[in-house]
Amino acid sequence: MQLVFVGPPGAGKGTQSKWLSSFLAIPHLSTGDMLRAAVEQKSDIGKSAQDFIQDGKLVPDDIVMELVDARLDEEDCKNGFLLDGFPRTLEQAKMLDQLLSRRGTPLSLVLELTVDENQLLQRLVDRGRGDDSPETIQNRFHVYRNQTEPLLQYYGEKDLIKSIDGSGSREEVREHIRVAVRQENLEA
Ligand code: ATP
Ligand code: MG
Repeated sequence: MQLVFVGPPGAGKGTQSKWLSSFLAIPHLSTGDMLRAAVEQKSDIGKSAQDFIQDGKLVPDDIVMELVDARLDEEDCKNGFLLDGFPRTLEQAKMLDQLLSRRGTPLSLVLELTVDENQLLQRLVDRGRGDDSPETIQNRFHVYRNQTEPLLQYYGEKDLIKSIDGSGSREEVREHIRVAVRQENLEA
């Protein structure tokens, strides 16, 4: 199955994706993690991406697509995958649809994690990653509202969205996801 996690910065996509990917036995593909690894390795992609990440801006679509495209070609993605933090723009969503339709494996479900902004801010400040400074966080919220939220309508029209309350503890949110996945008959 082909799954996507969407939600604002700090919603817990990474945490819940790690659990869900092992629960469903599909690889977890986080573009944030891939980009941070590229920055760490000082690869060409990393060098192009680092200033965008540091400023809380989106990395350009073509760079991110290149990463995702290569990753989806790997053997372990044959039977499905869980995308975390991608797509983040309508353009990325459309390119993903094309790519998946060429593979003959359309999206199964898009899980949306919802958390209010005050709580998100608190979580991000507590986490304190390099791009979690107050100014960068505001930029990322802004980018989410403007560039990523339109995806909810896009996937909503395709009847692919399932919204999950992400405001509780990790364990509570995990249970909500477990129920959602069961309702969709996605368990192996
Ligand atoms: P979480 O919800 O797990 O707390 P997050 O949304 O705050 O995470 P990441 O998904 O790790 O953070 O992304 C960090 C940064 O990496 C983004 O601010 C952006 O600069 C870049 N990035 C990640 N994925 C994409 C993407 N699909 N398109 C463009 N830029 C991306
Ligand atoms: Mg993340």
